[in-house]
Amino acid sequence: MNTVVQYLGYHWKGIPLTPTTAGQCRVCGGDLVGEVSTYKEVFGGRDNWTEEGMVALPDGEYVCQACRDVALGTSVNGKTRSRNENYFLRSYGFWVTDVELVFMESPEDLLRIDPGGRPFGVFIKDGDLKRKHFLYYIPLNMSVEEAWVFRAALLRPVPVRLSLLRYTAHKTVSAAEKIFAEKGVVLSQSAVVKYESLSERRRGELEQSGFPGREVSAMTVSERELLASIVRGFFRYN
Ligand SMILES: [Zn+2]
Repeated sequence: MNTVVQYLGYHWKGIPLTPTTAGQCRVCGGDLVGEVSTYKEVFGGRDNWTEEGMVALPDGEYVCQACRDVALGTSVNGKTRSRNENYFLRSYGFWVTDVELVFMESPEDLLRIDPGGRPFGVFIKDGDLKRKHFLYYIPLNMSVEEAWVFRAALLRPVPVRLSLLRYTAHKTVSAAEKIFAEKGVVLSQSAVVKYESLSERRRGELEQSGFPGREVSAMTVSERELLASIVRGFFRYN
């Protein structure tokens, strides 16, 4: 199986996706594609490698060409960047499958991710990019219902239902929903209707209390967090 960093290697550097050696890559865990190196060849002499705890197979001996050249190579950090790599640093992030690499210009583009049923990876540059090794750590998603989006701000992937995000952003957002989105709470449609039928005083009380109870839709805390931050960014951007 291929990994997200291997999709990037394919689109950026033409590294083929078909394995050349049996086994799995120590760093990304994918098939051994392209020119395969030993762990020693890649890491020998490096004293700044501090992310060993994040590698897929700590006992693995070999490293695929995508991990070597794209995730760990000097070309991303160094002076000789390709156009795509420069673009990568400027863009809001990207989503990628084995057939396409799409750079995003703004948070809104998260709503347009359409992998066409293919496995895909998503990276958003919502924070500083001090380390670029994370490229091997972007998870491969099988569905937009249960996707993990890698956030630069957190240097880790967070779960998000992209289909729900699309739905939430595209429907008309009421004043009540805006208020609770700011608090990181997403309201169900019936809760919005109920809220808007209340007196001003009762609304104020509910806003103070954080609108507890069954009216709040059944999202996980991390989904709410991400959605709220994206909705906030979305509003700010517009
Ligand atoms: Zn690899």
